[in-house]
Amino acid sequence: MPERSESESRKLLRRLRDTLAEPGAGQERLDRITHLIADSMQTQVCSIYLFRDDDTLELCATEGLKKESVHKTRMRLGEGLVGRVAKSSTPINTGNAPAEKGFRYMPETGEEIYSSFLGVPIQRLGEKLGVLVVQSKDARQFSDDEVYAIEVVAMVLAEMTELGAFVGEGEALSALHTHPAMFRGTTGQEGTAEGHVWLHEPRVVITNPVGDDPDVERKRLNEAVSQLRVSVDDMISLADGQGAEQREVLEAYRMFAHSRGWIRRMEEDIGRGLSAEAAVEKEQSTARARLETVPDAYLRDRLHDLDDLSNRLLRRLTGQGTDTGAEMPQDPILVARNIGPAELLDYGRRLKGVVLEEGSVGSHAAVVARALAIPLVIHAERITTEALNGDAILVDGDQGIVHLRPEETVSAAFRDKIAMQAAAQSRYASLRDLPATALCGTTIALHMNAGLMADLPSLVGSGAEGVGLFRTELQFLIRNHVPKRSELASIYSGVLDAAKGKRVAFRTLDIGSDKVLPYMKRVEEPNPAMGWRAIRVGLDKPGVMRMQLQALLRAANGRSLTLMFPFITEYSEFRVARQMVLDEVEREKRLGHVLPSALEIGAMLETPSLAYAPDAFFRAVDFISIGGNDLKQFFFAADRENEQVRRRYDVLNGSFLRFIQHIVGRCAENGTPLSFCGEDAGRPVEAICLAALGLRTLSMRPASIGPVKHLIRRIDLTALRALIEAECQADHANVRPAVMDWLATQDV
Ligand code: PEP
Ligand code: MG
Repeated sequence: MPERSESESRKLLRRLRDTLAEPGAGQERLDRITHLIADSMQTQVCSIYLFRDDDTLELCATEGLKKESVHKTRMRLGEGLVGRVAKSSTPINTGNAPAEKGFRYMPETGEEIYSSFLGVPIQRLGEKLGVLVVQSKDARQFSDDEVYAIEVVAMVLAEMTELGAFVGEGEALSALHTHPAMFRGTTGQEGTAEGHVWLHEPRVVITNPVGDDPDVERKRLNEAVSQLRVSVDDMISLADGQGAEQREVLEAYRMFAHSRGWIRRMEEDIGRGLSAEAAVEKEQSTARARLETVPDAYLRDRLHDLDDLSNRLLRRLTGQGTDTGAEMPQDPILVARNIGPAELLDYGRRLKGVVLEEGSVGSHAAVVARALAIPLVIHAERITTEALNGDAILVDGDQGIVHLRPEETVSAAFRDKIAMQAAAQSRYASLRDLPATALCGTTIALHMNAGLMADLPSLVGSGAEGVGLFRTELQFLIRNHVPKRSELASIYSGVLDAAKGKRVAFRTLDIGSDKVLPYMKRVEEPNPAMGWRAIRVGLDKPGVMRMQLQALLRAANGRSLTLMFPFITEYSEFRVARQMVLDEVEREKRLGHVLPSALEIGAMLETPSLAYAPDAFFRAVDFISIGGNDLKQFFFAADRENEQVRRRYDVLNGSFLRFIQHIVGRCAENGTPLSFCGEDAGRPVEAICLAALGLRTLSMRPASIGPVKHLIRRIDLTALRALIEAECQADHANVRPAVMDWLATQDV
């Protein structure tokens, strides 16, 4: 077999393009293509295998193997040499195929007589589409040049597959992005939604993978790269003074934009006959395929950076901006790899749901989605590759599942679920103005958690008695600079206006750990959750906290003000923080500002150590609010953001309940008002158990108030307490089964 020159490659691509331009059904085209490639490469065999479903490849066309095997021969991902190519997304090139690991003999194809085998993946931006194979009788390895030529051909086939050139009879030949697909991710925010895909970054469509004149294409590429470099430099100068993480990303962009290797490979691809955009995409696809196999987190981040940069380059070359002019569909559900909190807020309540490929439970986007009360599924891997703008989509935030282009039966079941939830919500709405009084006569105060001005309307809608936790960090997270005191004062004042005299417990800035401000110098910590965070930052670098306290005092402007400090671990921290407030009150007085009519200063109990603080602490605080999310992670030593362990321990574990009982007891002895504001307060079964143990105030998501109130009103807390205590005495580690059995006997 002769060495292939660049011009031969180009000739082949042009013939390929012309063949594709001729009219004909998908199968006819595939047949012509295999013939063409075998002829041009001078091999006895050329075959195209396409995915029939996620796991099965089907021989769809061949030149050289037995025709009867077309649409009959199938293999699973990873099976045989073809399956291995698809699985690993890397070529296999061997002079002795039968001796190769995993070789599978398929008698129906008659392929045993072919010794050399070259298979390359047909893939587009990480989406596996199939495998292109050439085989010949002589026992020789294909040259690098030949491998390269076949890869370029596979790239064009991938583009053509994407454009639907091979659509026709048979499952494997049906158009892409038309089948139902299910994605199993992780719950970021509960709730369900039905709507249509709105891609945060629409896919770039390449309509001309084959270039006519390599000089023209190289020039286009080089011009686009030059513009890209300028724009990266601009971004770097604009980002001056921003966080280390962002700078690191931009520096990586700059490095790639100047990488000779990257540009040389793209120029070589052009030399083989690809258009400039197809060359960019070929390199991008290779990088994405590598992403799947690189275990090192740092390298993965850099490959992501390269991917972002390639997208920018593609948009320049194709003139397709992120704003394609497409209309946002009805009931939009945002689908993205990831999204920043400010961008998500911009979309705001127009969105019915959000699905991300990345993200984490505690990420800023998740915090915003929670505040907006829209269902969020994270870790829905590869959904941006599969979804098209406008596709029907169902988001099940409760289960962390997404159905794309669902079958009618799935949609119907899903709608039933939504209808049931809606019916329950309207039942709960009728309870809005009734107290959460249990059958035993005890009344529980139900408050809501908030973090945005946009949350405040829920105060009326949900029937919450007040805001038990206002997470002030959101105002800091959504900006790229520290907000000004006057800005904050006006936001806080707006919150108090909207609360119309109901109590709002403002929690001072809780940053660090997962909540990193974009403009804050990032401190690398081995374990940020147990690191320099929350009140620790406020005490060590008091400037921002003082400014925030001033803003809060001014916002109160003669009204009563409730403050609480996050993550207090020992009494002295509270003492110093409280003194800071008192100092600021003095200062405001000196400046002649109106002071709050009343001031409550509380602490969040989020670390076990605080439960054992001296009595003096319990008497010094105006109230304590248990931050159950953090408290649980430290009690069980199980990272709340680590998917592998975060659900491992149950809040209804007897040891944890005893611990809660201990805190309740200490507060009772010292006359300290106590509330609970972690996520568990919003789960009805957990909430009644907390109430049974003596908690009289619970703060939760607004949507949880109805279900929690409903259950409290139907049970006897004294009886439940007796049950929990008996269970804690028994040998069982967890009271949940007994509580569920008991609930089944109640009229709930
Ligand atoms: C908590 O830890 O329970 C809490 C309410 O605070 P956050 O979830 O904001 O850390
Ligand atoms: Mg917390």
